[in-house]
Amino acid sequence: MSAHDVDRSGVDKSDVNVNGVDVIIVGAGMVGLALACALKDTGLQIIVIERAEPQVRKSLGRDCRVSAIVKGNVEILKGLGVWQHMQADASPMRAMRIWDNQAAGGIRFNAAEIDQEALGYLVENSITQRAMHKTLLDSDTVELLCPAEIAELQWHDEQVTVKLSDGHVLTTRLLVGADGGRSWVREQAGIQCWQRDYGQKGIVATVRPEHAHRGHAFQRFLPTGPLAMLPMTGDLCSIVWSAENSEADRLMAMSDVAFLDALNLTFGPMLGRITEAGERAAFPLKAQLAKHIVRERVALVGDAAHCIHPLAGLGVNLGLRDAMVLAQEIADANRFDEDWGELDVLKRYMQQRMPDVLSVMGSMEGLHQVFTGSIPGLKDIRGLGMRVLGNAGGIKALLMRNSTGLSLPVPKQIS
Ligand SMILES: Cc1cc2nc3c(=O)[nH]c(=O)nc-3n(C[C@H](O)[C@H](O)[C@H](O)COP(=O)(O)OP(=O)(O)OC[C@H]3O[C@@H](n4cnc5c(N)ncnc54)[C@H](O)[C@@H]3O)c2cc1C
Repeated sequence: MSAHDVDRSGVDKSDVNVNGVDVIIVGAGMVGLALACALKDTGLQIIVIERAEPQVRKSLGRDCRVSAIVKGNVEILKGLGVWQHMQADASPMRAMRIWDNQAAGGIRFNAAEIDQEALGYLVENSITQRAMHKTLLDSDTVELLCPAEIAELQWHDEQVTVKLSDGHVLTTRLLVGADGGRSWVREQAGIQCWQRDYGQKGIVATVRPEHAHRGHAFQRFLPTGPLAMLPMTGDLCSIVWSAENSEADRLMAMSDVAFLDALNLTFGPMLGRITEAGERAAFPLKAQLAKHIVRERVALVGDAAHCIHPLAGLGVNLGLRDAMVLAQEIADANRFDEDWGELDVLKRYMQQRMPDVLSVMGSMEGLHQVFTGSIPGLKDIRGLGMRVLGNAGGIKALLMRNSTGLSLPVPKQIS
């Protein structure tokens, strides 16, 4: 660990190894690593603390955790120098078809309608993380401590003291919680959450369809939740099948043959028969928003700040945008001799992020209600809505631009 800076906390340094660093990021998931990549050329000293080596659960030889990275965020990853390390393993999503039992044909989105070659790219989460590690490899300002556990946090006016289980003590002006939906940092900061348990699980697996997907993604809305079939490299697909808990448990308990039959029956013949399904994993689905995403000396990013239903595949996309805005605010504060751990600076991050976060969370909640809600008459409006949307080029293009994140005022590079 490189010694840097002087300790400003008044911590007794006589018998411990105390290091002062500019920012400590807790959690080396995609969002924590993106923040480290964004800060790596600012001259600030960054430490990322991760408690465990990544565990990759394979399904047909691929990471069963896959994310659709929208076009606007691909531009962010390019700006960070990360995309070049993952591009070869990213599968373009050129079109998307959404349908349910009500509207014949459903809606089709095509990247060409907004003059793009892809709406986004499907990438295995572990590949994105590996690309971020490669980007950080030659950095002498970012250090990753893994596996490492924080034993205790102490809050002071001008900094936070972080005591690790191995006896090391770190001090920092800003502690960032990038430690996921069950954030320990959030809990230690006394920040509570609004929560909604959907009573659903998302089943993920890699599957092999008979016909080539040609970059097409499919999403079928069922009364119990959506089933997404997403294009991967090697003509494989990744499924995210959201279902009520009891139905999800039933699907998880099935033999491979029975599961394949159920999948084929539900998805239909769009890609011919699905001939093979790899190992399945299930994740409980919830919507969650931290009541504060900043406190004096603390900022939350990614799932630590907000979790959303995966039906539009936007969770990590929100997190990447959090990372960019927070990094820019830290860089600006540093440039203008401000203390980036002060609440006034952190509020600027919060103010820029809340409209995006609330709008995506609101849309997800609305979509979930429209497609699974049991409110009488809603299914007729849904069918009508699908037909109107399917035919209204202008509205559709606007929606597509918004969901690809292309029109959002988020820095693509830290300046
Ligand atoms: C089924 C499913 C499908 C999804 N599909 C998509 C999609 O297509 N597109 C999309 O944008 N999003 C998708 N998401 C959401 C996306 O996976 C999450 O938003 C994203 O993984 C959050 O990343 P993160 O870095 O914030 O948190 P995490 O990935 O949870 O990472 C947190 C990290 O912090 C570490 N950590 C935790 N506690 C501590 C601690 N005390 N000390 C040190 N380290 C700690 C963990 O080990 C972990 O490495 C999906 C989610 C699900 C469930």
